[in-house]
Amino acid sequence: MPRTPAVLALDQGTTGTTALVIADDGRVLGRGYSEFTQHFPRGGWVEHDADEIRDVTVRVAREALEGARNREPHSVEAIGITNQRETIVVWDRGTGQPVHRAIVWQDRRTAPICRELQEAGHEELVRSRTGLVLDPYFSGTKLTWLLREHPDLRERAEEGELACGTIDAWLVHVLTGGAAHLTDHTNASRTLLYNLETGKWDPELLELLEVPASLLPDLRESAGDFGLARGELLGIEAPIAGVAGDQQAALFGQGCWEAGLAKNTYGTGAFLLLHTGTTPVSSRHGLLTTVACDPEGGRAFALEGSIFIAGAAIQWLRDGVGLLPAAPDSEAMARSLEGNDGVYFVPAFVGLGAPHWDPEARGAIFGLTRGTRSEHLVRAALEAMAFGTAEVLEAMEADSGVRTSELRVDGGAAGNDWLMQFQAGVLDVPVRRPALLETTALGAAGLAGLQGGVWNTASDFLAAQGEARLFESRMKPEERETFRRGWSRAVEATRGFRPG
Ligand code: ADP
Repeated sequence: MPRTPAVLALDQGTTGTTALVIADDGRVLGRGYSEFTQHFPRGGWVEHDADEIRDVTVRVAREALEGARNREPHSVEAIGITNQRETIVVWDRGTGQPVHRAIVWQDRRTAPICRELQEAGHEELVRSRTGLVLDPYFSGTKLTWLLREHPDLRERAEEGELACGTIDAWLVHVLTGGAAHLTDHTNASRTLLYNLETGKWDPELLELLEVPASLLPDLRESAGDFGLARGELLGIEAPIAGVAGDQQAALFGQGCWEAGLAKNTYGTGAFLLLHTGTTPVSSRHGLLTTVACDPEGGRAFALEGSIFIAGAAIQWLRDGVGLLPAAPDSEAMARSLEGNDGVYFVPAFVGLGAPHWDPEARGAIFGLTRGTRSEHLVRAALEAMAFGTAEVLEAMEADSGVRTSELRVDGGAAGNDWLMQFQAGVLDVPVRRPALLETTALGAAGLAGLQGGVWNTASDFLAAQGEARLFESRMKPEERETFRRGWSRAVEATRGFRPG
């Protein structure tokens, strides 16, 4: 019996790792998932144990492989890795062991370093070279902090004894038994150390952030040769052939590999990316410029905007306020109303991200009357995801001069049909939801499978995915205008309020 060609995709996320074995015809043959420990050593600090990430990843990969083996004879031709971005690991080149816990993207400890760099007037240089802003979110200042706090590590780094990398590089290191020290351009573009124009580490930025060049991994295209994963850990030997940061992997998994194609992930927060083709577009509307993939898994560019609170507003109404038993119940509650009756909810719990960038703003609900019921508040939380998305997409269109013809969606809240229909209406653009919502893992599989010969072209990979569902606008223009005006006024009023 012929064996089904397959790809092992590892999605190493912030709270857990998912492993999928995906057949060449798109079927998921096996899966594994496990959460792992979050460490909060001080207020604002977030760390992960890199050894635990290794162990959890290996365990879920073995589970997925085992499931696939029990299902049908197959051969894993390639491994794809996608990962939580910006989180940084430093390890000893000799022993291969981490020298410190991984510092996670959410960690705010480097705010003073960012401020110091801003006050010294470096923001513009950083922005023009990297497409990013000086914020603790990105990897670079985490390295600055580590080497400032631990002079012994600085000394060893300067002697060339240490290696660093984002989680992809750590997993490549682990799976190849220390043979490869590599990262891809999408992950590199989130470090503050990578020059978007040259596609290389930038010596001036390395100096600015006090990072010795010897620490850094070599760069590869996202579909590329990342070394051979050895048999002892996974029980199979296969080339690691695809690597991309989670949002870029999702963009690729959604088939957005040409200018004008956009995806939105509706999770805790929402992450929008618009592919802008082969030249980086710099933003005048508070968006980031980042590396994405072309149809061959090579280097291309995207604009990125995030909404901090999306599905989390539903979570808050569920857990903090007790208005609904489970997040999916929000759908029937929203559907039970004819309209929003003028109720708007701006869930700026941690400030407003793109395109407003107002860190001091806090959440607010407007338009309450004696007739307001829990359904209104739940519907308003769903509507907020759609309005926020529309604002970011508009900013992207203004920056790129490209009008999007369709929005591709994924993430937990994209399972909500009412929300997707409302989103299509608010945008007046069709919304496409793929059969498999795990587009991040799918993207890693696609990149690895292209390089590993499981799919000949990106279109073959896309064709192997099941039928997508298309939501088309049924909203009247005047209705859309009323909704958008109501939302704009609510955002304005939210920004006008400061407690205390
Ligand atoms: P993350 O990866 O950020 O943890 P997920 O993609 O798993 O998030 O999505 C979970 C989020 O989506 C939660 O905040 C939850 O409240 C919200 N959510 C899940 N299902 C629905 C639904 N059917 N309708 C609205 N929101 C939902």
